Parts: sequence; C-alpha cells; structure tokens
Amino acid sequence: VNHVVVVGAGLAGVRTVEALRGRGFNGRITLIGEERHRPYDRPPLSKAVLFGDADTSFVETDLAAMDVDFWPGVSAKSLRRGVVETTEGELGYDGLVIATGAEPIRLPGDGPQHVLRTLDDAHELRAMLVPGARVAIIGAGWIGAEVATAARRAGCAVTVIEAGSAPLATAVGAEIGARTLPWYEGIDLRLETMVDSVDEGGVRLVGGEFVEAHVVVTGIGVRPAIGWLADADIDLHNGVVTDEYLRASLPDTVAVGDCAAWWSRRWRSRLRIEHWDTALNAPEVAAASLLGEEVAYDPVPYFWSEQFGHMVQYAGHHPAGERLVYRGDPAGKWSAVWLTGDDTLAAVLSVDRPRDLVQGRRIIDAGHRLDAERLVDPDVPLRDC
Ligand code: FAD
Repeated sequence: VNHVVVVGAGLAGVRTVEALRGRGFNGRITLIGEERHRPYDRPPLSKAVLFGDADTSFVETDLAAMDVDFWPGVSAKSLRRGVVETTEGELGYDGLVIATGAEPIRLPGDGPQHVLRTLDDAHELRAMLVPGARVAIIGAGWIGAEVATAARRAGCAVTVIEAGSAPLATAVGAEIGARTLPWYEGIDLRLETMVDSVDEGGVRLVGGEFVEAHVVVTGIGVRPAIGWLADADIDLHNGVVTDEYLRASLPDTVAVGDCAAWWSRRWRSRLRIEHWDTALNAPEVAAASLLGEEVAYDPVPYFWSEQFGHMVQYAGHHPAGERLVYRGDPAGKWSAVWLTGDDTLAAVLSVDRPRDLVQGRRIIDAGHRLDAERLVDPDVPLRDC
C-alpha cells in the first residue's frame, strides 16, 4: 500500500491514521472530512459543551507531525475502485478507510429543528438554552436524555416527547427505561406520543395536539452516513458490511466506527455500534487489516451516558440474554444484568455502580457463568457471583 485515503475525519478516521503510522506505515495518507474542524470527540457535545463548561473537545493529535495531508471541508461524493470523487476533484488510492460515521434522522415539517451531532450544532443549541425558554425534545434516548439534562439545568421549561412506553425503551427495553422515570422530575414527559411534524412555533403531534416550543431538538437516532456509496460496488446493509477484520467487500477497503456493520465472532451476528469506544479501538484492527495482517475485532461493546446526575454504563450485547436480574434499589445505585439460558453474563447496565461495569465487562469477555442468587445481593461483588 502506497497511498491510503481516509474518508471521514471523526474519531474513527483520526485513530486509524494514528494506528497506521503506529504500525510503521510510511506511505502517503490523505484524510478528508466534511466538517471544517479538525477531529474532535462528540460525547462532550451533549455534556460539557452544552452545559457551557467547555467550548471544544478536539482530539489531541498532531496531523502535521504524522505527515498527514488533511483536507477539512471536503466531502466524498462517490466511489469507484481506486478513486474517490470529492468536492475538490478525484483522489486516487490503493488503500481506503471508510469512516464517515452517522447522521441524525430528522422529522418532517418546515419549522426550525435542531439536531445534535456536530460542534456547530452544540454551539447553536447552547445559545438557545436560556432560562424560561420552552424546549421540546423529541426522543428520550441517550441524546434526548442528555439534552433534557442540560436544558433543565439551564432553567428551560422542558417537554420530552417519546414514542415508546418509557425512556431508553428502544436502546435497552422499557422495563429498564421505566427505572429512569423519576429522573424526569420537573420535565413534561409525554410517553407513547408520536410526532407528526415540526412546525413554526412547536411540534404537531399525531392526533392534532400542538406543543408550543421556542426550541425543538430532534434526537430520534442516526443512520450510517453512506449515501455517497450508493452507486459504488460495495456491500451496504445498515452500514458498510465488513468481515470480522473490518474488511469491506471492495478490495483494499476497511470500514470503521459508526458507519461499519462488522461481523462479531463473539455474538455470531452483525453489529453496528454507534458508540465512542468502538470508534476509539476498532481503528487498530482496521489499520492492521489494511496492512495485510489478520487480527479480528472481537470486543465486548461498551458505552456510557451521563444523564440527570447519573452515570449510566453498559457493556455486552443484551439481545443475547434471556433473563434480567437487578442489583440494588432503583431509587439509589443499581445495575441490571442480562443472563443467557445457561446463566452466562450477556450484558450489564450500571447506574452509578462503575465496579459492576468493569467487572461485568471482564466476566462477559471470559464467558463465565454467574450464580443468579448471589447476583441479586448488591453487596456481593459481581466477580464473586
Ligand atoms: P463521526 O464522529 O460521525 O465522524 C465521521 C466524520 O465523517 C464526520 O465529521 C462527518 O462530517 C464526516 N463525513 C461524513 N460523510 C462524509 C463524506 N461523504 N465525506 C467526508 N467526510 C464525511 N458515545 C458514547 O459511548 N458515550 C457517550 O456519552 C456519547 N455521547 C455522544 C454525544 C453526542 C452529542 C453524539 C453526537 C455522539 C455521542 N456518542 C457517545 C457517540 C460517539 O460520539 C460516536 O460513536 C463517535 O463519534 C463515532 O465516531 P466516527 O468517527 O465513527 O463517526
């Protein structure tokens, strides 16, 4: 490989560049990114940046020192074998990294509608979270809950509109989501409520009711940013389809981060994980694959969310679980543990119990079985269950 083109200058893109150089690749690297910013972390956007505690979250990296040709503000438009068509012309490659991440889904309607994906989005939204502002947040998933946290903290009048029967229902199921209901104190939470459109001055619900709002934030999920690959000769299915080495169906091509749907050896299924830890760690494997090594990507997926003063952490893959066991009082610090049919740990979600998370992730990795009876006692460390 002589010239690697990395499309997408988010965390996955920049980490792949670092991993290539770390593995001794000394050919040309071109990094192209649609945004005008240098690479930054997104998790702080809905936390410190939205709170006003930080203005930026740039990744500490030195692209010049790594001899990377960085093209900010440039988009890939299409791909054919060996050539990326960009807004600045054609770019030939003999190694390609697809790291274009994901983009927020928007709702119909002509009214102003905020999403929170980029640093610019965060600055725009932050300026509008002022005391007394009526803020309608559509979606009580991870982003919706974090934006609601910031809006309440800023003194806004907050309405959260959620289609499911509980917050976080889509992500981790309504039963666990229901445990977070008390966190919404002071917020007008509308469950099982569908939005028809975002209009001037607020949100039109299915059924006709109008929720007035100065600010509407849509947080109903993202989809992989793969529109530019629509005509390319590459397998796409809910993202760029890859094998366990993160190799796409096109030769000399890897995909990594939010846009990659990789084969998980561990869970025997295809996963697309839209979380920071994957963008951080998968690039090591992607770089190795591009340089001809065979190292499988086989993690226990991990993410966290900070909402309403609580640290929520998750590791594993709960669809592999059959049974849910709780540790701890729902009003305090607690964890939920998913067990498979033979009591192997499939996933753990912890609320303000970071030890459960760390130990649980190790147990999942090792494939150990647990004693469900000891498990329910929150005073018994998970590793002793
Ligand atoms: P991205 O970060 O999306 O980067 C992709 C880049 O590619 C973007 O800059 C995009 O502009 C660019 N691009 C797209 N298309 C093109 C194109 N055609 N040409 C050129 N460039 C293109 N995860 C957690 O685990 N915990 C959290 O608490 C958490 N909080 C989050 C809060 C927010 C507000 C957001 C938005 C995400 C959060 N995440 C969190 C998720 C995490 O940030 C993502 O998983 C991570 O950013 C994925 O990195 P990526 O590099 O794959 O994609």
